[in-house]
Amino acid sequence: VRARVMQIDHSPDVTYGDIGGLQDQMREVRETVELPLQQPETFDTVGIQPPSGILLHGPPGTGKTMLAKAVANETDASFIKMAGSELVHKFIGEGAKLVRDLFEVARENEPAVIFIDEIDAIASKRTDSKTSGDAEVQRTMMQLLSEMDGFDERGDVRIIAATNRFDMLDEAILRPGRFDRLIEVPKPDPAGRELIFQIHTRDMNVADDVEFGALAEMAEDASGADVKAICTEAGMFAIRDDRTEIERQDFEAAWEKLQQSETVEAGESP
Ligand code: ATP
Repeated sequence: VRARVMQIDHSPDVTYGDIGGLQDQMREVRETVELPLQQPETFDTVGIQPPSGILLHGPPGTGKTMLAKAVANETDASFIKMAGSELVHKFIGEGAKLVRDLFEVARENEPAVIFIDEIDAIASKRTDSKTSGDAEVQRTMMQLLSEMDGFDERGDVRIIAATNRFDMLDEAILRPGRFDRLIEVPKPDPAGRELIFQIHTRDMNVADDVEFGALAEMAEDASGADVKAICTEAGMFAIRDDRTEIERQDFEAAWEKLQQSETVEAGESP
């Protein structure tokens, strides 16, 4: 069971250079994760506890997972990932145990960064919900909180969680000593999109007529993940057209296609 829900990556290969934009977010993540892992004595000397948990929040596909992986890479820490939704949906009755396992595995693999994606799945506000799994979800969350509370000798384990639904979170998890460092990860601005286009075309055979600034303007409101999808799709358009060089028109066609598929998806959802 462990192996299936928990992804352990002993040396994630994402670096800070792979992340476009997000300078402030990167700095904050480094301060709160890197420093305690690399210089725990500084915190001892100053006499304060490093922040316990970090919560990254923002729309899908904006680089939250990348940030967590990059900081693990930089500190030579194992990266241990678990999705909140998997904790509660896949293994009914197992959530609390999986949380315990998660922390145990992290201690066995120190230094480690625990990344809990979709934390909202186990830490949503208590509504008078009709969902039958509710008690199970509560138990899973209580276990997470108690692991974090009883984590004085936290040592070389840092915890990062992520959510697209910050407004839904139960305040209990945001209290001091828990996820008390909030970092918003927004969609990129045009300058950020330009950088992300550059990053994702690094290994692509791009024609001289392609201007990244213009692509960034074109792909208004695109997330980092959207930009990546545009680049891959542009390559596909070139291949279909029997070319090995990707032209501006390919990026434009790719953006058209992405927007259409998103409209369809949006139209389909209830
Ligand atoms: P989700 O909330 O859906 O889990 P996320 O914010 O964790 O999304 P990531 O998994 O980090 O998003 O990003 C998905 C992919 O999109 C990355 O693997 C990367 O290729 C691309 N991407 C997203 N944001 C950026 C960025 N700022 N710079 C470069 N690439 C990015």
